[in-house]
Amino acid sequence: MLKEVNNYLKLLLPLDWLAVIRNDDIHVGLLAPIKPLLIQRSLYFSPDGAVTVMVHGRDLPPASDFWSELSKIQKVVLSSSTVKEFAEYVVEVTHALRQQEICEGVPKFESLWKRAPDSSIDMNPFHERRFKTTCRSTSCILTTPGLKVRRCKECSKLERVLTKRSKRKKKARDQVDITSSPSSPSTPKKTQTHSSLNTPAQRKRLKYQSRTIKHQQQVIRRQKERIRKLMREEGVVVDKDLSAELATILESAEGLTPFQKLFIQQQLKAAGVKGPSGMRWHPCLVRLCLSLRMLSPGAYEELSGMLRLPSERQLFDYSHAIPAEGTSANDVAQVNLLQGESTGVVEEEISMSV
Ligand SMILES: [Zn+2]
Repeated sequence: MLKEVNNYLKLLLPLDWLAVIRNDDIHVGLLAPIKPLLIQRSLYFSPDGAVTVMVHGRDLPPASDFWSELSKIQKVVLSSSTVKEFAEYVVEVTHALRQQEICEGVPKFESLWKRAPDSSIDMNPFHERRFKTTCRSTSCILTTPGLKVRRCKECSKLERVLTKRSKRKKKARDQVDITSSPSSPSTPKKTQTHSSLNTPAQRKRLKYQSRTIKHQQQVIRRQKERIRKLMREEGVVVDKDLSAELATILESAEGLTPFQKLFIQQQLKAAGVKGPSGMRWHPCLVRLCLSLRMLSPGAYEELSGMLRLPSERQLFDYSHAIPAEGTSANDVAQVNLLQGESTGVVEEEISMSV
């Protein structure tokens, strides 16, 4: 009877599927597309209709979709009257297995395969067309319901793990890139033209340039904020004419010495301040004015009429910031002795210098 079944099967089985009789069973197998005879998938039919399935030499796991498909097929028991029906049953079950596709595992992230948890590397010894080499879960179900489903649910879990690891690795690599300077050996030299670089080097240079631009934009933004804050807190409102004059002065201030610039700045600042006490004078200017006032109070008074200078009162505050302890007749006599000057002048000098 089995021979009769086999004769039917030779006619009915799809291409690359063959049937043999062994140990009172019918064995149906799919040949691998290579010269040595290698069976990718095997079905073992007992005369009572029971089916055993092996894929890549492994028993097909119970979670495979094939088993639910098999349950929909009416089982046929082989007898002299059911030879043809049995052969048709074998073909139908074979067709159900043929509809299943081999799980392709996780063919990506090859560098992570070795350390992937609960997995093994499949070097594709059965020459499946869906992948070259892959990494699959140790619980891989081996089959998927069809072409649209690329991997079983166990290998999908593995793929998610490897995807996360890959992202972490990439992130770590990017951080290393950020910390490396453009002159490090792994980065292209500044002198190399963009067109002479290969694609990865071009990408690296563009990435670095993009980071530099972002950084500079950040610096400019901060500087603008600082200037706005200063203008809010210390800014002085001036009319249009003065503004134009200031602009002209600042534009033509190239050849001025630092002290000249400071003097002009102080004059401009003082011009915008209401009342003499509102101006905070620069220490250099205070020192100059103290010196001028000491040399000639009359000349200082004359000059104060033309320029904005610290008032007498302000100069007094500066010169008496540290309370004077007073001078004894002894001190005056000593100073007179040292400088040989008149008593009045020396007293004034001491008072100014404290
Ligand atoms: Zn799988």
